[in-house]
Amino acid sequence: MLLYWWLMKRKTFIHQSSLLAGGILISPTFFHVKEDRLIKKNISSHTPYAISTWNVPRANEIAGEALEKGSNALDAAVLGVAYEEANLLNTTVGKGGAPDRDGEVTLDACVMNHKGDCGAVLAVQNITHVAALAKDVMEKTPHVILAGEGAKKFALSQGYISENLLTPESEKAWQEWLKKGRYEPEINVENHDTIGMLCSDQNGHLSGVCTTSGLAYKMKGRVGDSPIIGSGLFIDNNVGGAVATGLGEEVIKTVGSFLIVELMRQGKTPQEACEEAVSRILEKQISKPDFQVAYLATNKKGEIGSYSIHKGFTYTQYKNNLNQNIASKAVY
Ligand code: ASP
Repeated sequence: MLLYWWLMKRKTFIHQSSLLAGGILISPTFFHVKEDRLIKKNISSHTPYAISTWNVPRANEIAGEALEKGSNALDAAVLGVAYEEANLLNTTVGKGGAPDRDGEVTLDACVMNHKGDCGAVLAVQNITHVAALAKDVMEKTPHVILAGEGAKKFALSQGYISENLLTPESEKAWQEWLKKGRYEPEINVENHDTIGMLCSDQNGHLSGVCTTSGLAYKMKGRVGDSPIIGSGLFIDNNVGGAVATGLGEEVIKTVGSFLIVELMRQGKTPQEACEEAVSRILEKQISKPDFQVAYLATNKKGEIGSYSIHKGFTYTQYKNNLNQNIASKAVY
């Protein structure tokens, strides 16, 4: 009976996800966001919006549309990023992500909601939808962080399916990288990277998600800023929220997202706060750095700011049925 219920629930989800996600079938293991939650009507007048690091139009649109249908901010963000987690062409998030230097794909993610609750998973193998998994850690365990094998064990206990996340294309690129014969992790400063998404729902509640495969060809066991609450993501529903992308080591050293939210609490706009957080990184550098760090933030007034070390960082914004990609200001 229980098995039948689970299979029916899963079947319903597959149908919903292929409708929601257009061309990309979100993995059947991702059955946690239910349609009834998305169509729940709200009476609040707050205009919802979704913002995401980089150019991720469909993921951001999925989140924005869910918000307009009345989804709460965290469910919308988890649903939005699930699209990119399942997108095999995106080599920096989820399935298809670049592997570590041993050829294994390990994923990191965290979530934080308007109540200040949070969850994170670190260095997880074989599970595509790690943002949903981080939310499950938050909601279904007494803990905030699960790492490695423990996170995978928990995922399997929750009905997630173990999958091979390494695509032939990512494997080929890794083989090419190995030919260089020296350890040099790579970071993509072009179009796609870690997805940090911030959503504000019809109640004006803020939540966020950060999901990534981390630096390409990182050392086994390396974890960056993305799943670290306060570094890759921070939300304070009285103030605002921030997300980070880029070289995680530099973000962690300055606890970047928490710093931005605290600066906004002190009265800075999201733009001013992002600029100050970037300058905290740069003041430790003796010359122009060759790494990228970028921040995206919003406050309770709905103001948005972004700033990066190098040009090339963009973010995607959905509001009032309009989804657009916007170039960030940068130092260099
Ligand atoms: N911040 C991520 C990390 O350091 C990488 C990225 O944003 O591209 O793992």
